[in-house]
Amino acid sequence: MSADSAVVRPPVTSSGLFAKVSRFRGLLMLALGLLVLLGPYLGMSGYLARTVMLVGILSLLTSGLNIVLGYAGELAVNQVFLYAVGAYVTAYLGTAHGITDVPLIFGIVILAALVIGLVTGIPGLRLGGWSLAMVAFFMVIILPSVVQVLSKYTGGPLGLSTPLPTLFGRDLGDRGVYVLIVATVIIWFALARNLILSAHGNAFLVLRQSPILAESLGISVFRLKLIVYVISAVPCALGGALFAWLDGFIAPDTFTFAMALSVLAASMFGGATSIYGALVGAFLLQYGQQQLTVFAQLELVIYGVFLLAAALVFRNGLTGLFRTLVARARHRGWLPTAPALRAAEQPPTTGLEPIEGRPLSCRDIGKNFGGNQALTGVSIDAAPGRITALIGPNGSGKTTLLNLMCGFYTPSAGSITLGDTTISGLKPFKVARAGVARTFQTPMVARGMTTREFVASGRYSQQKVSMLATVLRLPSFRRGVRADDSEALALLELMGIAQTAGTEVSELPLGTRRLAEVARALAARPQLFLFDEVASGLDPADLDSLERAIRAIRDAGGTVVLVEHNFPLVLKVSDTIHVLSRGELIATGTPEEIQRDARVLEEYTGSSGAETVAGLEADLEVAGTDNEGGR
Ligand code: ADP
Ligand code: MG
Repeated sequence: MSADSAVVRPPVTSSGLFAKVSRFRGLLMLALGLLVLLGPYLGMSGYLARTVMLVGILSLLTSGLNIVLGYAGELAVNQVFLYAVGAYVTAYLGTAHGITDVPLIFGIVILAALVIGLVTGIPGLRLGGWSLAMVAFFMVIILPSVVQVLSKYTGGPLGLSTPLPTLFGRDLGDRGVYVLIVATVIIWFALARNLILSAHGNAFLVLRQSPILAESLGISVFRLKLIVYVISAVPCALGGALFAWLDGFIAPDTFTFAMALSVLAASMFGGATSIYGALVGAFLLQYGQQQLTVFAQLELVIYGVFLLAAALVFRNGLTGLFRTLVARARHRGWLPTAPALRAAEQPPTTGLEPIEGRPLSCRDIGKNFGGNQALTGVSIDAAPGRITALIGPNGSGKTTLLNLMCGFYTPSAGSITLGDTTISGLKPFKVARAGVARTFQTPMVARGMTTREFVASGRYSQQKVSMLATVLRLPSFRRGVRADDSEALALLELMGIAQTAGTEVSELPLGTRRLAEVARALAARPQLFLFDEVASGLDPADLDSLERAIRAIRDAGGTVVLVEHNFPLVLKVSDTIHVLSRGELIATGTPEEIQRDARVLEEYTGSSGAETVAGLEADLEVAGTDNEGGR
């Protein structure tokens, strides 16, 4: 598909005031930000100004936690450590070296955040599991000792005073500090918003919800998590610098475990995957602390209750609660809803562009899980421009073979090649980048993105728009968005589901979701397509669309491997069928040959060919029903 093929944009699904508000939310936030920015010039009291500054700084820290928790899925609560680093670096450079220039300090503080992020993130993420969370936790625990050990620079328990910042040699007065803090917060949230509302942000969403899906899209989970973690360190350290300037004095009792908990509570309260949730959470927490004396006395208890309430009642914070309420209101008809969807009302109209399929070759594959020999000596080939089916009763090793092909498992014996490339032993994301795309037995889609964005996510590992170009909305970013959009729309049109482009992909009915998944696989322009149980749970209309799509991929030259229980479909579309039984290949042939193969019939029916193909079909269908829920 060419990027400029004329595609009609389907209407945005929600309409009316609500949609308009959400479309201009960014602008609204900016206007609100400007109003706050000019507060002191509009007669804002000193007390209110201080509250605004504290809320702003706390929201930077909360935003840091939101990014790492909400998008990398890592509960790393070390924001207060980076906050302390930012504050101490600023205070030390100011008092000891007279460095007070804002851009210079910001540069140094950001650099420090990046270095600390890398140094703690690489081992934490390499070890996997809870390691990063533990590393982050210990950073908070050891913070007082670090301050003590470095008391020559930090002033130890006495603390450090901080000279006021300067900008291009001019002193910033109190108002100047206010404007600096609010402007930094506005700019940070604008940049973070730009990143989150982009292909990168969608990749973060995929990453958080399913590392397996992320890897199959060619995304290195380790690398992307590290990037997210390192980025999340930046606002925290900046917040520290701003805090040093705000108070003019820092002491170790600011950077406590209670503060780490308050950031966590603010994040939970505002909602970790919401862009502006950090502001909501920070505001509520800061305001609570200032207004209620009981809050100060029972600080830790209140955070504990907050966290419990957040975990039990509203998992995505207040902003998540708001979204749930909107969804419910839509459900009840109080708000306009997306039109009811029907997949494939029109058949795919155009053909696919030629695909350079490459031959897949599995040689003597063996796979055992502990003592369980799932596959033994399996050799199969799949040719470009052909549909190769893999059938066999439940537990015969089909999914295992598919997982070996896409790198989720490493073979215990044998090797797998795609063209000249040996793909066995490569990490899944490298296999994906080598040209392998797959669908999942239970379709894997990410919540929080439209069908169009989901399809475009298939292109993510190939698109070259950098994060820098994305946060700054440079021309290359706009070109990237246009290319993603038109490619995704063209593919959805091909699948006959263009009308779903603006719909939340996780809300699509099963059949449509499967078609969207096929479009997502196509978007990666792979040479090898792996379909796992793609027909299960589909109604006849969806099945027709799917069949057309699979044939279209074959006709365009793609290599197609179909793991399937739906025997009629397999007989109809396959060029070659391989039959597995108890981990061994028992037959290979054309549909006609397989239908007549005595061994296959015996395997399935327990008779020596006396029973009919109908019996075989029935068996396969039964096997199909209890095989849901796998990958
Ligand atoms: P199919 O997809 O044909 O139904 P599978 O490939 O899922 O079969 O399973 C083949 C065999 O391998 C089964 O005996 C299953 O229990 C075993 N198996 C599959 N995956 C794993 C795993 N991750 N760990 C242990 N055993 C597994
Ligand atoms: Mg299976």
